[in-house]
Amino acid sequence: MRMMALEMVLNSIRTGVGMNTKPISIVGAGPTGATLGLLLAERGLPVVVIEASRNFRRVFRGEGLMPSGLDALAQMGLSELVEQVPNQTIGSWEFVIEGRSIFSVDEPMGNNLPCTLVAQPQLLEAVIDRAKALPNFRFISGETVQSLITENDRVVGCSLSNGETIQTGLVIGCDGRSSMIRKLSGLTLNQETKPFNVVWFKLPDTDLIPQSNPFTIFVKGDAVFSLFRSSEGLIQVGWSVQNEDWKSVTDWPETLAEASPPWLADYFRSQNVVEAITDRPLCLTVTVGHAPQWSKQGCLLLGDAAHPMSPIRAQGINMALRDAIVATNYLVEAWRSADEDPSLITIFDRALLQIQADREPEIRKIQALQAQEAADGMKLHRSAVLRNLVKTLAPIVGIALREKWKLRQRKLRSGTTLVWLKD
Ligand SMILES: Cc1cc2nc3c(=O)[nH]c(=O)nc-3n(C[C@H](O)[C@H](O)[C@H](O)COP(=O)(O)OP(=O)(O)OC[C@H]3O[C@@H](n4cnc5c(N)ncnc54)[C@H](O)[C@@H]3O)c2cc1C
Repeated sequence: MRMMALEMVLNSIRTGVGMNTKPISIVGAGPTGATLGLLLAERGLPVVVIEASRNFRRVFRGEGLMPSGLDALAQMGLSELVEQVPNQTIGSWEFVIEGRSIFSVDEPMGNNLPCTLVAQPQLLEAVIDRAKALPNFRFISGETVQSLITENDRVVGCSLSNGETIQTGLVIGCDGRSSMIRKLSGLTLNQETKPFNVVWFKLPDTDLIPQSNPFTIFVKGDAVFSLFRSSEGLIQVGWSVQNEDWKSVTDWPETLAEASPPWLADYFRSQNVVEAITDRPLCLTVTVGHAPQWSKQGCLLLGDAAHPMSPIRAQGINMALRDAIVATNYLVEAWRSADEDPSLITIFDRALLQIQADREPEIRKIQALQAQEAADGMKLHRSAVLRNLVKTLAPIVGIALREKWKLRQRKLRSGTTLVWLKD
């Protein structure tokens, strides 16, 4: 009985590329879902991408791309889109503790491309526009997937908020860290750490930040924040807070000014900056973790849905793009094998397991490196003695800290495994 059901599913997803056959349903058009949808559609698979928001601009996204992410986009043939949308390179990484510069590292490191900030709303819109030109691609925006349809324990479809039901060969949850598909499918998430908050907002540009665009991390007293020029030329602030801290902060410009060196303090206190934000800045709760199992029959999780990433050292989009490449390789191969030999009825399910086996080691390694960066930051955050020691001994310890930090960056910039998009 179960074998018959599998046979029917496989037959229905491989019988052609027209939208009257069951498509692969991708839930979410963030970096994972948008690029995966394009890659699969370009290779002839019928695809429907369902995105909850009507407008890419309404959804918050980080935008730092490491060489691994830029390479993934190049392999996808999307480098020209990166150049067409707002973008900005990072000139250096600077660490300022208790007002004193401890060390600095210039970009690019080695012979890699420099870390680049790429406007995600425009990039994702351009990716989806490219996919829309293909006859086997359908994009539904402004609707959420609200339930999964199962038969014999296999996911065979999904229902949308507008009442539409989509019969599908495979549902791929690319719906981010709070994934609804993860919950609906009964797949679970192991959280690595207690969720933490990042207050995230943009301020007007200022000549105080050199045009070379250093990414600076400031640690002073209880405050830890980073500051850089965003892809669109505004000053992006990411301020790491504990829940209780955030609730008690009423005068955020003054709080940040007190944690800044004098030149930056004046900027936070200037009327121009205070007026630029009338509401309290957006506070994002960050969950970091991994799903022990990324798939069940007829359903796969990818990107943050499978492994929500910390914002530390700009990894999530890069990992998402690399997930999309590896998933494409396995799904296309499964699709083509099934076309040649209809008896290979479990090949599609096997592909889902292979995708996790291929991607998981890199994800876990990168999450561990992010955790090490967070732990180092936390030691400084918690100990005034340590901060003052590092500040006082900066000319000596700065060199050692710089070398230790640089060593960790190799893998955070290039990934830990070879990811290669097949034709
Ligand atoms: C403060 C902060 C800064 C960050 N900065 C960076 C950075 O600089 N560089 C970097 O690489 N990473 C960064 N990250 C991490 C990065 O944002 C994520 O890892 C990345 O966006 C994951 O991509 P995704 O496509 O898997 O999920 P998402 O980008 O979260 O996309 C999920 C999509 O699914 C849609 N969706 C959700 N539910 C449904 C539903 N039920 N039906 C239909 N659609 C749905 C959403 O609208 C969304 O468009 C940052 C994260 C945070 C919190």
